[in-house]
Amino acid sequence: MIEASAYTILNVDDDEAGRYAKSRILKRAGYNVIESDKGADTLKLVLSERPQLVLLDVMLPDMNGLDVCRSIKHDPLTAHIMILQVSATHVSDADRIQGLEGGADGYLTEPMEAEELLATVKALLRLYQREEENRRLLSQLRDADRRKNEFLATLSHELRNPLYPIRAAVEIMRLKDDLDPDIQFSRDVIDQQVNHLARLIDDLLDVARITRDKIELRKEKLRMVDVINGALASSRTVIEAHGHCPQVALPPESVWIDGDAVRLTQIFVNLLSNAAKYTPKGGNIWLSARMENDNAVISIKDDGIGISSDKLPLVFEMFYQADDSLERSQAGLGIGLTLTRKLVELHGGTIEARSEGPGKGSEFLVTLPAFIQQELSQPAEPPGSKRDESKANWRILVVDDGPNTREMYSMLLRRQGHEVDTAPDGKSGIEKIESFRPDAILLDVGMPGLNGFDTCERIRAQPSGKNLALIAVTGWAQEEVQQRAQEAGFDEVLVKPVGPKEILRSVGSILERKHAQ
Ligand code: ADP
Repeated sequence: MIEASAYTILNVDDDEAGRYAKSRILKRAGYNVIESDKGADTLKLVLSERPQLVLLDVMLPDMNGLDVCRSIKHDPLTAHIMILQVSATHVSDADRIQGLEGGADGYLTEPMEAEELLATVKALLRLYQREEENRRLLSQLRDADRRKNEFLATLSHELRNPLYPIRAAVEIMRLKDDLDPDIQFSRDVIDQQVNHLARLIDDLLDVARITRDKIELRKEKLRMVDVINGALASSRTVIEAHGHCPQVALPPESVWIDGDAVRLTQIFVNLLSNAAKYTPKGGNIWLSARMENDNAVISIKDDGIGISSDKLPLVFEMFYQADDSLERSQAGLGIGLTLTRKLVELHGGTIEARSEGPGKGSEFLVTLPAFIQQELSQPAEPPGSKRDESKANWRILVVDDGPNTREMYSMLLRRQGHEVDTAPDGKSGIEKIESFRPDAILLDVGMPGLNGFDTCERIRAQPSGKNLALIAVTGWAQEEVQQRAQEAGFDEVLVKPVGPKEILRSVGSILERKHAQ
């Protein structure tokens, strides 16, 4: 138990004799005692002296003691201070209850015995100490949580970078027709596993964004049936790998949703992949959709391993995995459903998990605001999306401080028939513009010296830089980077690992846009 001398008690009473008597008892017991005889002074003293306990008389000349108590408990700076209200005998039980409801932690009636006062003060200080400890633990937990989130964000960015050269190396191998079958097989294994890794890392990145409320939707009008077909196509590999063939009842063509195509697909891919993962071979997966009032209700159901009723409410929690006995390669990271729920909620919808128990299958019901419209023209294709990049012949300048990356990009882009030159830093990149006259520049963002943003700003400031396609390549997919890149004058940001197809699609659509202006 902590020494009494470590505590300060503020004794508030306008009756001098009563105040003196109580202070004497407390001082004798070893407490530091400060005094006040008015409500207003009390409110100042709790802020300046930070006592652990206030012994508060209900009747004060300037303010009602109950109001003083409420003010102390209302202010986050003083809310943790214990308040022991003291009143005269004629005060009724109703007053006592009112006092406690106003936030007092204890109530005593005068006249009181010294022992009763000391025992009550001691009990409240014990409570204070426990609450203090809880506050300290909570703050440590919040700190640890913040550090974990920062770590996750950094980790996922760092893990993304090495994937680029691996993917690019696979692309180079793909360009060779005469590969030994063993090498072909090995290449495909690397390709598959790198894609799996990239997906896990993307989920991690999304988790880091979720915890910082950084996910933003890019909404457009979408036909529900296209969203679902897209998700079925994207999850085909994992569904087939588990030996399933889902039975699908698509929504009518006329059902539309205002949403983010990528994120909506992610929702249904997650649910379909889970249904496939958690349903043994020979089981069934059903996908159906219907309109209910102003909502589309999509059900993804399986007759797989099911979820017990005690675990059902937990499946949407971050990092939760109902069955940790599953092989890790099957189980994932336990963040898919957390992401899914967040994405559904960002679309103004809800998600519910149902299961009648282990072995009885599971059903996930997604409800999303939707509307029926018969005649709505398809959204226009983004400019440049239909362009045949293979026919074009561009001059592309690659500016990157990594020699391997420079070489890899050059090789891949040259093989597609483009002219490529490279520069190891921003300054020499700018110098090369005059002699090489590129159509497009690929700029690494994180270069020493002049970074990608500054280089881009300088290029745009020159007359020759106005109409160039400027593409930032970065391992950091965060919203801030996008923002900064736009301000610097980039046309697009590509996130590593990025292959030649993506680069050429991007160059094509930017140049087409620029020529159309
Ligand atoms: P992960 O699949 O990566 O473990 P999720 O967040 O997607 O993480 O799912 C959390 C947990 O919910 C899973 O580990 C699994 O125990 C349970 N779960 C999800 N979908 C199903 C399903 N269709 N059938 C049975 N259990 C499921």
